[in-house]
Amino acid sequence: MDSDEFRHWSHKAADWGANYRTTLRHRPVRAQTTPGDIARQIDDAAPERGEPMEAIFADFERIIPDGMTHWQHPRFFAYFPANAAPVSVVADYLVTSIAAQCMLWQTSPAATELETKVVDWLRQALGLPAGVSGVIQDSASTATLAAVLVMRERALGWMGNKEGLAAHTAVRVYASAQAHTSIDRAIWVAGIGEANLVRIPTKGDLHGMDPEALDVAIRADITAGLTPAGVIACTGGTSIGACDPIAAVAEVVKRHGLYLHVDAAWAGSAMICPEFRTLWDGVEAADSIVFNPHKWLGAQFDCSVQFMRNPGEQARTLAIQPEYLKTHGHDGVINFSEWTVPLGRRFRALKLWFLLRYHGLEGLRTMIRNHVAWSVELAEKLAAEPDFEIVSAPVLSLFSFRHKAPGDPDRHNIALVNAINDDGRIYLTQTRVDGAIAIRFQAGQFEMTREDAETAFAVITEIARQTT
Ligand code: PLP
Repeated sequence: MDSDEFRHWSHKAADWGANYRTTLRHRPVRAQTTPGDIARQIDDAAPERGEPMEAIFADFERIIPDGMTHWQHPRFFAYFPANAAPVSVVADYLVTSIAAQCMLWQTSPAATELETKVVDWLRQALGLPAGVSGVIQDSASTATLAAVLVMRERALGWMGNKEGLAAHTAVRVYASAQAHTSIDRAIWVAGIGEANLVRIPTKGDLHGMDPEALDVAIRADITAGLTPAGVIACTGGTSIGACDPIAAVAEVVKRHGLYLHVDAAWAGSAMICPEFRTLWDGVEAADSIVFNPHKWLGAQFDCSVQFMRNPGEQARTLAIQPEYLKTHGHDGVINFSEWTVPLGRRFRALKLWFLLRYHGLEGLRTMIRNHVAWSVELAEKLAAEPDFEIVSAPVLSLFSFRHKAPGDPDRHNIALVNAINDDGRIYLTQTRVDGAIAIRFQAGQFEMTREDAETAFAVITEIARQTT
């Protein structure tokens, strides 16, 4: 592709993107396709000869958008959001054009230095203490894996990587049943084994880990000759927004000299609003904290920030410096790939820089406060309906509810979610609370308005009554 063509098709892509965003409201939120619909329209092998861009672009427009669930749709209330504010998309166009591999300072000085700056902007915005450093990872799963590897190494006297786990007594990690499955996977991948992920019971309205039960479990493991390594606490669990009492958990962790990682993948964004920080009181004691600006804050996926009190421990666990990766003559620079499991890295800081400068923290706070308020309003309206019950009260902008109808409640509520999503005006997903199905609602999409929450109420109540 020559540069004129590159310019032409880049403009075309930008125009397409702007039109897509402005027409999103008129599309069904969840893809209305059935499995195989899209695959049937794609050739079975790559062409031997190149094709004209006109044909490729036309096929894109014909096949792909209608085969997508629209995560940027203002009435996307499922899972958690993956907000890509337009300004962060613009930044990512630039990153895509530069297309640097940002593994070392030398391969990308501006990316490295900007990353240090914007991560520190976020540290301040979240109210975390000076001296905490951070790195941008692809996902919370990767950040949690890195934290688990560090807690494992620290507990094994930094010998696990060298000797393997067979040379040691079992490493034990503690989390509540509300913790995200990325924790299970980190435990698998770190070789610790699921049997050594100890589930601590929860209590209270926020379904938080019971610190006394945590203490008892750690003591029992020590007595049994096992090796407690660390605790993974959550602020804003995925299912119903569970929040562990971080300060009390941190005290237990400190007492036993363990490592504390806090998973605030979703709720972390809300901590730019001081009034929500009570949900993670005591977080400054954590060794590591992860939150995803690619969820609520608006940084185009992927963008997950891991804060660390002592990044040297993470580098000690993960850094490898063969001669071909050394940078001679620039001692003291940060090579962020030494803080992460993958070597290769995208330039993720630019979209954060654009996002934070364009909207300002106050603009982002207003968005988050609105989402929380609209979600609470919707929960109150549903609670006032005789045939609905609130299953878990709003934590920030997430709550769950159930429609009461004759017959099997699980089957009815799953059928209701499916009917709502087939309708297409809004998109919701379900979860299980105390063994029974509940429907999740979270408000968080960047372009959402109060009218969208009102539409959600209208659609939920209308379709519930049709399916009864
Ligand atoms: N932790 C929590 C609380 C989450 O809700 C999620 C995803 O929704 C994750 C971790 C995993 O995030 P990622 O997709 O960035 O790995």
